[in-house]
Amino acid sequence: RPGLLAWCRPGFEGEMAAELGERATAAGVAGYARAQRGDGYALFLLHEDDDGAAARALTWRQMIFARQLLRLRAELRGLDTTDRVTPVVETLSRIAPRSGWGDLLVEHPDSDSGRQLAGLARAFGNALRAALRKQGLLSPQPVSTRARLHVGLLAGDHLLLAQGDPAHCPDWPGGVPRLRMLRDAPSRSALKLEEALMVLLTTGERERWMQPGMRAADLGAAPGGWSWVLAREHLRVSAVDNGPMAESAMATGLIDHLRADGFTWQPPKPLDWMVCDMVEQPIRVAARMATWLREGWCRQAIFNLKLPMKKRWEETRRCLDLLENESGGPLELRAKQLYHDREEITVFARRS
Ligand code: SAM
Repeated sequence: RPGLLAWCRPGFEGEMAAELGERATAAGVAGYARAQRGDGYALFLLHEDDDGAAARALTWRQMIFARQLLRLRAELRGLDTTDRVTPVVETLSRIAPRSGWGDLLVEHPDSDSGRQLAGLARAFGNALRAALRKQGLLSPQPVSTRARLHVGLLAGDHLLLAQGDPAHCPDWPGGVPRLRMLRDAPSRSALKLEEALMVLLTTGERERWMQPGMRAADLGAAPGGWSWVLAREHLRVSAVDNGPMAESAMATGLIDHLRADGFTWQPPKPLDWMVCDMVEQPIRVAARMATWLREGWCRQAIFNLKLPMKKRWEETRRCLDLLENESGGPLELRAKQLYHDREEITVFARRS
């Protein structure tokens, strides 16, 4: 049965299945999700054959809980573990696009059992790459204008064959961008804002919307990871927090530390950016963010919404609806559960 394959953070399969179902219904795509808690992925199986139309209607960019969203082409179970390459190449030769694939990624779920397949994924990827090139099914060098082949290893003898459009889905294996923590980063949270800028904005948008000399506020800034990321982009930052800021953040010379309450502080004049990582009820954060956008205190915002233990999809919808309805005008709104997000999502909002 044709369908879609989506990777997610283990434990969030239910939220992703609910999201896939809702978006599919809204787009007029008939199907149902197959997901099991802890697996790190879900399938959305279609009632009709046109997975191309489904893939166009449901995209990685619009998904909150999907790290990656691909067209599922085949599922192989009970593989002979002494030779996986032969049956896989045989199946692939039947479903290959006419010009072959432009690239190959072998992935595994981010679950406890999935991560143990990392070594096998690497070795199998090397063997499969060579075999596919020999058959002319894979280009000798990566070609970003052709469909990308994704092999999802679920177990040593069980895999999914899927296809991605490089223009619309990332080339990070498993949908996880590899980011390295820099030595003087004040906190691990710095990686979260870096990832948000990479995942929620395109390269062109980042260059246009975040420029040296711009002004930003960071609500709930301490110890300063997010402020430090903004300062590295040469923004001037008002860091609002009653807690202490790390020396490495203040050493940038671009950060003002203001001991104040992030829920009542407002900037003396409009800013380009506001970021917020205050740990609070999500609906309360969303309401404050809506006020900032409605009052024009910032043009762009990136903030975290901590999700409750239960009804996480419903709460996500409630917060995003509030933002849509109470920001005082058209809003560009994007949200993702990033790799560095645990029980939370990260939102980008921009007044048009
Ligand atoms: N983004 C920071 C970084 O990269 O280092 C980490 C922020 S930490 C998760 C949350 C911060 O929010 C804490 O330092 C806490 O003091 C601050 N906070 C919580 N409620 C706040 C409030 N009402 N006003 C200001 N800061 C608040």
